[in-house]
Amino acid sequence: MQNKINLNGIGMTSQRTRERLLGRLIDQGIGSMEVLDVIRSTPRHIFLDEALSHRAYEDVALPIGYNQTISQPYVVAKMTEALLRSGPITKVLEIGTGCGYQTAVIAQLAKSVYTIERIRPLMDRAKKTLKLLGLRNIDFMHGDGSVGWVKYGPYDAILTTAAPQQIPHELLQQLADGGRLVIPVGGDSRQELQLITRTGQEFETTILAAVRFVPLLVGQVQH
Ligand code: SAH
Repeated sequence: MQNKINLNGIGMTSQRTRERLLGRLIDQGIGSMEVLDVIRSTPRHIFLDEALSHRAYEDVALPIGYNQTISQPYVVAKMTEALLRSGPITKVLEIGTGCGYQTAVIAQLAKSVYTIERIRPLMDRAKKTLKLLGLRNIDFMHGDGSVGWVKYGPYDAILTTAAPQQIPHELLQQLADGGRLVIPVGGDSRQELQLITRTGQEFETTILAAVRFVPLLVGQVQH
């Protein structure tokens, strides 16, 4: 693990509640110790409104305002594990910062993270929370992530936490040779979590799971 979070002053809910979540992830097939350790040490409750924080260690997606949701821990673990499968990752692009929970997980496992969110108040709140955790290897952009972030590319890992109908071409182009993209693809009712691995100009697709994400909204940014 490269970047440790700072837990000073952040109350943790009971050890037992968090261990129960870890047990659930293991039961569902998450095997990477690296990923499990990071999920164990990431205080999910500080990403939620106080009224919902008692549910933070349940393995469910929960509302974060603006019609968006914090990702389900199992899905965060599954996506992160897929990105790490063939070795350490250096530079990651994330589309859909949301409350920043997935960002916090990946930032502890990569050298630098570039994250894009189209709803400014969500991005501002995520920035504050991630700063509180002492994670300094994250750059934020308010904008439409479906076109990627050319300036810092190519990336050896890209993850999207909102689902497009089809994979945006720009994301494939910004993937480094040997790089991996994890992305939910499909309409409202049913999506596939796909892992795309790039070798030269070839893109190999593996289906990881059936999932439900909020839609990736293309071409419009909300202020
Ligand atoms: N991993 C996040 C998930 C948030 S939900 C978390 O755990 O909180 C998905 C997020 O993607 C939402 O915040 C939504 O606003 C954002 N989003 C949707 N379309 C986008 C786009 N084109 N560019 C950037 N962000 C987008």
